[in-house]
Amino acid sequence: MEDPETKKNNRNTRIAIIGTGPASLLKALFLSASAPDSEITLLDTASVAGGAWYSDQSPAGYEIECGCHIWSYVPKAYRFIEKELGVPLYAVKPAPVFVGKKIRVPYSAKNSTDTYRAFCKTLLSLRWKRFGNFRHDPNMNFRIIGKRNRYPKSGSPELIHALLSRISKRTNITIKLNTVISAIRIQDNTAILETEAGTAVFDTLYLTYVSHIGKLIINDQVIPAKHRRVDYIHFLLRTDKPLLKKMSYWRLINDPVIHRITDISYQTGFHENLVLAGIKDKAYYANDEETLITHCRNLFEKYGLTDQTFSMEKLKTHIFPTYYLDETTLDCLKKSGPAVALLQTTDLMHGFYFLLRNEKSTG
Ligand SMILES: Cc1cc2nc3c(=O)[nH]c(=O)nc-3n(C[C@H](O)[C@H](O)[C@H](O)COP(=O)(O)OP(=O)(O)OC[C@H]3O[C@@H](n4cnc5c(N)ncnc54)[C@H](O)[C@@H]3O)c2cc1C
Repeated sequence: MEDPETKKNNRNTRIAIIGTGPASLLKALFLSASAPDSEITLLDTASVAGGAWYSDQSPAGYEIECGCHIWSYVPKAYRFIEKELGVPLYAVKPAPVFVGKKIRVPYSAKNSTDTYRAFCKTLLSLRWKRFGNFRHDPNMNFRIIGKRNRYPKSGSPELIHALLSRISKRTNITIKLNTVISAIRIQDNTAILETEAGTAVFDTLYLTYVSHIGKLIINDQVIPAKHRRVDYIHFLLRTDKPLLKKMSYWRLINDPVIHRITDISYQTGFHENLVLAGIKDKAYYANDEETLITHCRNLFEKYGLTDQTFSMEKLKTHIFPTYYLDETTLDCLKKSGPAVALLQTTDLMHGFYFLLRNEKSTG
């Protein structure tokens, strides 16, 4: 009889990746290049690939993104996206800003200030070992004047298309959408996924920090997987004319209902006047829609983006539930053996940075 190790060596390595967010797509490309004999399966409950960066169609048929997005300034990740994936990036204009009651701070300046604050805190607390980490921390932005955030010309769908187009050329990557995983079982250095279609066994399972785990069993022991659920809710709003002020991305610090706004009209070549407003989940569930839309109208007027001559209508509500795995569940997964690997991805460019640190080429 063939011994199990030899049997394993005689077949291709089976790899599963949960999710089809950009980080999962990029990891699949790296694995496909470094282990061409592996069979890689990406599984997602969603019906379209892209994770939080999925896209939709505007009323006139243009492809538009569904959330207010901004990419952190991470030069290594930017370079990779331009040079390897062939997606040119442009400075976001006007610069993204934090908007407080009385002040407006450019995103880049706030990031620089945060860096110096973290640096001084470490200096004062005499935790010398942490200084070494600064060099590798993509958050560290040691500049007096921060660098500009960059973005693809027609929005994040460009990045998803670039990744999917490469994936479509790989014969060893399969994407399975509309797939609900009812249980994850880690046993004898393998990961077993239970889905409606049946049970599938993998040598390695990649999870992200936002993978939703229904049931987790590690070596026959049921582990209560805990998450913090956050619903990212965005109203797609249409105005009858362009906003009175040019803006890209505003992060509102004090508003009780709206936490960010993006003017995405550029994604339709300015043929439509479309704005995305991020609605705080507590406010969304505590108020009726009419109240929320009236709040949006008033806020836009207050900030001089519109005036009383404008009409504004809500076209769509996008709700993207995100399940942040808690520290104890992450710890259990990290200790569960070689069958499980984690992708650190709660900020997109940081996620790319951590992937790039270990991998060199998508082949
Ligand atoms: C609306 C929104 C706006 C955001 N804006 C920004 C931003 O501007 N900048 C930034 O850096 N980050 C932003 N984020 C954070 C975002 O989570 C990360 O940037 C990045 O998308 C994380 O990548 P990911 O691949 O880990 O997960 P996601 O992109 O969140 O994708 C996870 C995918 O996994 C699937 N999935 C999860 N669990 C399972 C399961 N058990 N079985 C099958 N499929 C599963 C989900 O359906 C989803 O498609 C935003 C997030 C949201 C939701």
